[in-house]
Amino acid sequence: MKYSEIMVRYGELSTKGKNRRDFIRQLGKNTHLVLRSFPTLEIQPRRDRMHIILHDEPVKPVMQAVSKIFGIETFSPVVKLTANASLAQIQQTALELVQAEFKPGKTFKVATIRQNKKYPLNTYGVDDGVGGYLTDQISGLKVDLHDPDITVRIEIRLNGVYLSCQTIAGALGLPVGTGGRGTMMMSGGIDSPVAAYMAMKRGVKIDMIHFYSPPYTSPQALAKAKDLTVKLAEFGGTIDFIQVPFTKIQEEVKKAVPAGYLMTIQRRLMLKLAAAITIDRHCNAVFTGESLGQVASQTIESMRVINEVTNLPVLRPLLSLDKTEIIKIARTIDTYDLSILPFEDCCTIFTPPAPKTKPDLTKTLEYEQRLDLDGLLSEALAGIEIKKINVGDDYLNGEQDVFAELL
Ligand code: ATP
Ligand code: MG
Repeated sequence: MKYSEIMVRYGELSTKGKNRRDFIRQLGKNTHLVLRSFPTLEIQPRRDRMHIILHDEPVKPVMQAVSKIFGIETFSPVVKLTANASLAQIQQTALELVQAEFKPGKTFKVATIRQNKKYPLNTYGVDDGVGGYLTDQISGLKVDLHDPDITVRIEIRLNGVYLSCQTIAGALGLPVGTGGRGTMMMSGGIDSPVAAYMAMKRGVKIDMIHFYSPPYTSPQALAKAKDLTVKLAEFGGTIDFIQVPFTKIQEEVKKAVPAGYLMTIQRRLMLKLAAAITIDRHCNAVFTGESLGQVASQTIESMRVINEVTNLPVLRPLLSLDKTEIIKIARTIDTYDLSILPFEDCCTIFTPPAPKTKPDLTKTLEYEQRLDLDGLLSEALAGIEIKKINVGDDYLNGEQDVFAELL
């Protein structure tokens, strides 16, 4: 079946009244970025629907990519005929569509909507004409008006006659970029990509902040965090990836601070840096992949002492999820296999065997005073590097960085 376009029905944004125009524009922009590897597509975000005109692109991979974009309620691969298409043409197209879906025992109905009042047949005429033709042509196909397996939708519009018989569930949520901006503290672990996904689902445009500690962490660990970001870009388009050198801070903390407080103080400095970057980039919140009680740094007491470094909202979408629930989401968004690759994170390396689960704030502040905080923080900030990460990039296999070196 040669489809002419994918018709996209909007999700939650339809309820947003005056913001509707911005939402549709943003969804169009995101769709463009997500589908960047299909060069001949034409994306038309219109008031009531978005049309993705396929031209010569194959429908299946485009649908696969569209199914991830936040802000889409449902979508359908559609065949468009001319506005004056005859009943015979409509019948023939409907037959091909249903044949692609039909298995013995399946039921169907035809649902016609007519916007073009000049079209010679009314909706009943089209329903009957197409329905009768299909039952004649496909033996064993039965009509069921109430709960059909296949619904043949025919829309007779001013600019064409549209036919489809599949309605596929979209990713729901809000288009990324319509819910404000935040940063995400992105490790290479299982949790932070899932937290990023959840923030993005609510329309938040996320900049990734990743701390790395060469030579203690490998280039692969960095590439892995970038490739996780590539996966997340599939939900809403290009993402800024900010890498922050953390080696010197970790070495200094290790020298100056008692083992029990290493983790707490490292985490405070990470969050302090993340907060500074967040403000600098005009973002309004820091997201993390923390889940209450999961590890020592994620007790409610630790969170308080770590959180004390900033008054920005620190948002934790996974706060009350179990690890098994988080893993389930990680599998559905296809980040799990990357996350479990054994490249060490900067936190694991300098983590003492017994970090304090209930750190004391006064002691924390006292130990922290042993460090040249301002010097360390400004050195780290001076060393940040920012990269735009696109759908389809590939860092672990080296392609992106090799390419970058050639330029
Ligand atoms: P994750 O799977 O996200 O790594 P985790 O359960 O392993 O989470 P931790 O390693 O203690 O937990 O990290 C808690 C949170 O701190 C992470 O979810 C992430 O938001 C942030 N974080 C940890 N390491 C880094 C890093 N190298 N760069 C940026 N953020 C980090
Ligand atoms: Mg981790």
